Amino acid sequence: MVPIQMVDLKRQYVKMKDEVDAAIQEVLTTTSFINGKAVGEFAHQLSAYLDAEHVIPCANGTDALQIAMMALGLEPGDEVITPSFTYIATTEVIALLRLKPVFIDVDPVTFCMDTQLLEKAITPKTKAIVPVHLYGQAANMEAIMRVANEHNLFVIEDNAQAIGASVTFSDGSVRKTGTIGHIGCTSFFPSKNLGCYGDGGAIITRNALLAERIRMVANHGQSKRYYHDVVGCNSRLDTVQAAVLKCKLPRLDAYNDARGKVAQYYSTAFATNPNITPPKTALFSTHVFHQYTLVLNGVDRNTLVDQLAGVGIPAMIYYPVPAHRQKMFSFLNLPEVDLPVTDWLTERVISLPIHTEMDQEQLDYIVHHVNQFVQ
Ligand SMILES: *Cc1c(COP(=O)(O)O)cnc(C)c1O
Repeated sequence: MVPIQMVDLKRQYVKMKDEVDAAIQEVLTTTSFINGKAVGEFAHQLSAYLDAEHVIPCANGTDALQIAMMALGLEPGDEVITPSFTYIATTEVIALLRLKPVFIDVDPVTFCMDTQLLEKAITPKTKAIVPVHLYGQAANMEAIMRVANEHNLFVIEDNAQAIGASVTFSDGSVRKTGTIGHIGCTSFFPSKNLGCYGDGGAIITRNALLAERIRMVANHGQSKRYYHDVVGCNSRLDTVQAAVLKCKLPRLDAYNDARGKVAQYYSTAFATNPNITPPKTALFSTHVFHQYTLVLNGVDRNTLVDQLAGVGIPAMIYYPVPAHRQKMFSFLNLPEVDLPVTDWLTERVISLPIHTEMDQEQLDYIVHHVNQFVQ
């Protein structure tokens, strides 16, 4: 059996080696490493795929979030509502800009922001909501946009884990995640659903004025060459990464389908296990399974991770400490927040290997051992 990995980037690369090698070679030949042709071409291609007019590539997903918040003119002390049950980047950026994260709990079924709790979290200082489309499915964007519009708040989607997923609204319209809020942010970290061979990210918007502002912030606040209007930063997608992404984007839907098949196989196999709750997909969203994360009932998770490791099956805890319990936020003197679902999930979730190259032998092996260890 091919050794099992959380993500198998090698086998994915080998399948398109000639194409990717040629694309990288072309960048080397032209030596236009910064803002080369492939960068603009990829931005165009992604804009068409997402059906969103403006795509501004940047250096990584964390920068994308930071630039989005800077471009919206958020100021120190402004409150930003966001889940605590997420990767740290989302809240770290809020704190870095001296904004105040206001954590709300997540829905126990979708693991995304519980929109029932949104209104209660709003104060006169609230300026933005940052939902995270965790593990590959969307937060309830219809509810989030409704509340945001009522209260005149910005919405920045953290779409680092759900590129390619789409949301169906009650009027029947369908939109890709990352194109629904005022700004969408994504990451091309190698293991993401659309990953490059280093760091990369992008900022997405349908608003031309915002797009201009975002471009300016990402480029030293520059309005024209050597004229700097606002304090910005330097965040670019390099040409080699754009060349790789150009090869991979046409394959994204197939990649997401492959992940979906793995998830379906797992969920069927775990359906009758009383101590495993497989992930569920909300009716309003598709799921692109960046992670396949299940909830364990009455199982010693550390023991299970060790048992799985003992038979060559990696498993990960995403995430072992929620943001509101991280030491980095102690300086904020955040009032004690009560996030019972977040704490409950944090102790019980486990993520199994899922990627585009998994074969039947590996799947059978994993399912057999998980069901054997979890009884
Ligand atoms: C990966 C990730 C990020 C950050 O992306 P980087 O490219 O690693 O900076 C932000 N938010 C979420 C939810 C992520 O999964």
